[in-house]
Amino acid sequence: MENQTYEQSFGAAKVVTGSAHLLDTGKSKILIDCGMFQGLEEHKNYEPFGFDPKEIDALIITHGHLDHVGRIPLLYKGGFKGKVFAHPATFDIAKIVLMDAGKLQEEEYKTKYKKAQRRGKEKDVRKPLFTQDEVKEIFKKMNRQKIEYDKKIKITKDIKATFKDAGHILGSSFVEIDFKEFDIKKRIVFSGDLGNKNNGILPKPHTPTYADALFIESTYGDRNHKNIDDSIREFKSVIINTLLNGGNVLIPTFAIERAQQILCILKEMSEEKSLPKNAKVFLDSPMATKVTTVYKKWDQLLSKKCQKYKKHPFEFDQLRLVRDVEESKAINKIERGAVIIAGSGMCNGGRILHHMKHRIWNPRNALLFVGYQAKGTLGRDIIDGAKFIRIYHEEIIVKSKIYTINGFSAHADQKELLEWMNEFEKLDRIFLIHGEYDKQVIFKSVIHSYFDKKAHIVEQGEKIYL
Ligand code: ZN
Repeated sequence: MENQTYEQSFGAAKVVTGSAHLLDTGKSKILIDCGMFQGLEEHKNYEPFGFDPKEIDALIITHGHLDHVGRIPLLYKGGFKGKVFAHPATFDIAKIVLMDAGKLQEEEYKTKYKKAQRRGKEKDVRKPLFTQDEVKEIFKKMNRQKIEYDKKIKITKDIKATFKDAGHILGSSFVEIDFKEFDIKKRIVFSGDLGNKNNGILPKPHTPTYADALFIESTYGDRNHKNIDDSIREFKSVIINTLLNGGNVLIPTFAIERAQQILCILKEMSEEKSLPKNAKVFLDSPMATKVTTVYKKWDQLLSKKCQKYKKHPFEFDQLRLVRDVEESKAINKIERGAVIIAGSGMCNGGRILHHMKHRIWNPRNALLFVGYQAKGTLGRDIIDGAKFIRIYHEEIIVKSKIYTINGFSAHADQKELLEWMNEFEKLDRIFLIHGEYDKQVIFKSVIHSYFDKKAHIVEQGEKIYL
């Protein structure tokens, strides 16, 4: 087995975060993604990678989400000197995401340090994983190789790859990796995260060709999403009814993809004149504003529907981009007719909190959830029916209307994953990554009945010979 090619996952194995997949052909070693562990897995960011970063010849980034790029600074700290391959939009988004993560790391460190100082335990406080300055330095020295979709390129002396649009977020790719083993051609495909073909702003995932082995994400391998058209209708009616009743709408949202999706629906409402002329839509998230700028820069990647708008899909008369904190605070003075889009998506921080504090006690207003709310977050508490919440040490009664719209997702659902897999001309072995174990078990059995093939659920650190 000495020289045989193998894959080894050092994240996103039976979990959805920390994507990092090593491919070793015996002649070169490449890494596909280098993401951060989040939530319950967070402590793993402080553990060694399980491989030597100095030995990695190249890094492929499928897309700019934190769970796919978040450990890149640690890779450099570990001595990585290779080339980095990604779509240029992915480099843009990854930089915004890593700068934001660096800022959060620094803030968290400061808070913990201060508290520990009072106990005389400041030496025990863990240093930030990386800082904003370190991210800047890394981007300065990064050997960036900007890929073009559908064009085969050389990754290392024996590996070539073709990136194809995965339709998940801007610049997202699935990657077909080609190499020879004992003179036999092999193609391994990594799906990255696959998009929801009904997301509205990006095209559906591109058609794959063939694979000797496919490593496929399985985030929603157990279920299908609600119908998107119903969700959009529901979304529009909440906005219209709340504004007509003299209220305001708060929309907690993720900065990448969901914020732009929401802007695009509001743009559509503005064009069809269902959004009142005197309404004001505030995008009150510096990060979402930055990401929207990247989406504008790469608008040739957007869906046909988005491209046909006269003005830009993310621009309309009622929209205001909020830059600084003063502007954000000034929104509090508006009594009616405001739609406020702000982070964080699960209400566990960010500017949405101060908007909630000022609005959520008032029954005229609406809090509209358009994204997943994980257990333990304020967003989840509210959905679960909390009557009172605490924001900045103040107890606040929840009287505004609460709406949850479930049809929005940046991921393909079970049906779409199967449809995409069905497009392969030849598909030999199937490996499930990037999914919670119980969902993967369901997906595995569905694959078995659909394709009559046994998929394998990848374990962290397991060597898979290809
Ligand atoms: Zn993603």
